[in-house]
Amino acid sequence: MTLIRVALDVPVDRLFDYRCGDRNARIGTRVLVPFGRRRLIGIVVAKPEHSEVPEASLKHAIRVLDEQPLLGKADLRLLEFAAGYYVHPLGAAIMMAVPATLRRVRLRDQAPAAYALTPAGAAIDAATLPPRARASHRLLALLQSAPVVDHAAVAALGAATRKALQTFLEKGWVRTTIPDPVLAQDAPAAAAGPPLNPEQAAALQAVASALGRFQPMLLLGITGSGKTEVYLHAIAATLARNAQALLLVPEIALTPQLQSLIVARFPGTPVATLHSGLADGERAAHWEAARSGKARIVLGTRLAVFAPIPALGLIIVDEEHDGSFKQGEGFRYSARDLAVVRARQAGVPIILGSATPALETYRNAMDGRYQLLRISQRINARPPLIDCIDLRQGMTADGLSDRLITAIASRIERGEQSMVFINRRGYAPVLICGSCGWTSDCKRCSAKLVLHLPERRLRCHHCGHDSAVPASCPDCGNTDLAPVGQGTQRIEAALAHHFPEARILRIDRDTTRRRDAWPDMRERIREGTVDILVGTQILAKGHDFPRLNLVGIVNADSMLYSNDFRAPERLYALLSQVAGRAGRADIRGQVLVQTRFADHPLYAALRHQDFDTFAQTLLAERRQAGFPPYVHQALLRSEARSIDTALQFLAKAARTARGISPTVSVYDPVPAGMMRRAGRERAHLLVQSGSRTELRSFLKIWHQWLAETSNSATRWSLDVDPAEL
Ligand code: ADP
Ligand code: ZN
Ligand code: ZN
Repeated sequence: MTLIRVALDVPVDRLFDYRCGDRNARIGTRVLVPFGRRRLIGIVVAKPEHSEVPEASLKHAIRVLDEQPLLGKADLRLLEFAAGYYVHPLGAAIMMAVPATLRRVRLRDQAPAAYALTPAGAAIDAATLPPRARASHRLLALLQSAPVVDHAAVAALGAATRKALQTFLEKGWVRTTIPDPVLAQDAPAAAAGPPLNPEQAAALQAVASALGRFQPMLLLGITGSGKTEVYLHAIAATLARNAQALLLVPEIALTPQLQSLIVARFPGTPVATLHSGLADGERAAHWEAARSGKARIVLGTRLAVFAPIPALGLIIVDEEHDGSFKQGEGFRYSARDLAVVRARQAGVPIILGSATPALETYRNAMDGRYQLLRISQRINARPPLIDCIDLRQGMTADGLSDRLITAIASRIERGEQSMVFINRRGYAPVLICGSCGWTSDCKRCSAKLVLHLPERRLRCHHCGHDSAVPASCPDCGNTDLAPVGQGTQRIEAALAHHFPEARILRIDRDTTRRRDAWPDMRERIREGTVDILVGTQILAKGHDFPRLNLVGIVNADSMLYSNDFRAPERLYALLSQVAGRAGRADIRGQVLVQTRFADHPLYAALRHQDFDTFAQTLLAERRQAGFPPYVHQALLRSEARSIDTALQFLAKAARTARGISPTVSVYDPVPAGMMRRAGRERAHLLVQSGSRTELRSFLKIWHQWLAETSNSATRWSLDVDPAEL
């Protein structure tokens, strides 16, 4: 009888030991175990000699489900690191890395994937089943007829068979598995890429010579400078060595052209794509293709950093500065940072690509820890002309300046597209009563209800509250309620007023909710049946709109001043990404930024597309102020019914923290930037240290104290390397 240590998806931070007599129990295989009154699927992570639990009280594992490990030792090592670094329960972290389909014991209605007999199931002799259990006989015969049986085939045998299947699953005779994925993609023809220019060739050379060893690299180049082309060549070099390549991107749904580009460049090469837009079964199939080594290229969003890729030879993180690489709740890992850890563990090079890298990354490149690869020119276009429109000198009606309107008019005349960017959806961010001062506040959040005019609704963008627009002021009865400020709908309306003939397309979360809405819109934009685009961040991501030559940015200032010290860094990245949409080979793009602070260094840097000067200025400020990347931070967030409860909990945590380590600075607890959200009040406590190692040892102790001390009145979570304060 051996011992196995099992990772389970339960909220306690520990692993569980079981006795297990099955030879198939190997590290990385799934196992079905009793847990309280339930049965759970877990992953074997160790086979210890001893258990702290007395042997006699250890339970028996029910069944080992796999013959081959699902997760390799390298995968478990990365997960262990991640769980430790982000102080998250290891079992939960490991199980999160396994597709949902493979973790379920209960049958689901929109059933997954497929089924196969486990080793125990394969050993069953039909003669030992009760003769009258006809459904069980039918099911067993079906499962014996093929290595993998589709859900549809089981369902076709009727409800009784379905029930028998549930029993087989609970006994561990059957495991959920994955049908063979269809990955080989048809590409019309192998599309050859353009020959690389000297800077691209040098970058590629650097990557190629690093294959086979750990080497982090920052590929720094503005939008359209040909970074993607370097990635494609680097992937080709990796495939030529018979290795797999992992390409992490912020959003696949928004950048399908990258996926088709890869398919076209590597015809016949199986590509696994991993992102949240896939159905469970599909996702599991792609995951399995990565794991088995069948997929040679793995393209995915943040969670793909944990995908098992046995022959990993290269990692690329595109738009490495993008906020979506950091998980915002639960297991708050940074996929970008873990990708670097993974590259180190695997001994492979990693390319971090961006026009506006995170200051953490930029500093590593400046200090020589990362190799800096630069591409300085835009390939098919000159850099856009960026100009500020000083709002102090001209009034704006509905948020649009005369100069921007004139510029749009002349583009329309020439049959070119314009884009107006605003970072807020809805019509106006607040509704105000002119006579008593009432404002449309959300009762459950410290936020205003946003007016959605076409729908005639007031909506909270934080908690989902949604109500009709009142006919008169709820406080004084005045019927003269005024929308204040601008959102996409209002800009759209204003543009329609100025350009009654123009074809205007609004692109924000409200208009792209439907699944194919965005692909359809993209087609229309590319075909040129749109004159003006109005939209939010969605428009900033890497799209190639050939007719777009003018970009107007309406309310950048609202993002300039904020409590968060990272606000300017983010704004610069966003604006330079938006600006990168404008222009092409024959027409120089134009970008107009409406602002009241035209002299601000951020806009000056943007005008000159001078990321380096801007980044160095910010880094100097950060160093002086003692902010990251010069210190390492962790944020303890708490939330309770009242802010006092939340703060009291943090005050206690702060006292304890000060007693743990003299070198870790502990700030005072403060209410969160948005104090109330969905009826809960929130506060946080910042701790920081110049030494990552010291912060880590501190967090370990502190976390233990938190886990032991917490009570049901306060919810808390730790965020290591928080991206937002
Ligand atoms: P980035 O990823 O930096 O935004 P891309 O790699 O997408 O830039 O390149 C921008 C455009 O230039 C693409 O249409 C690409 O096909 C083209 N391109 C890239 N490299 C070259 C090259 N060496 N010669 C000609 N065209 C190129
Ligand atoms: Zn009023
Ligand atoms: Zn709300």
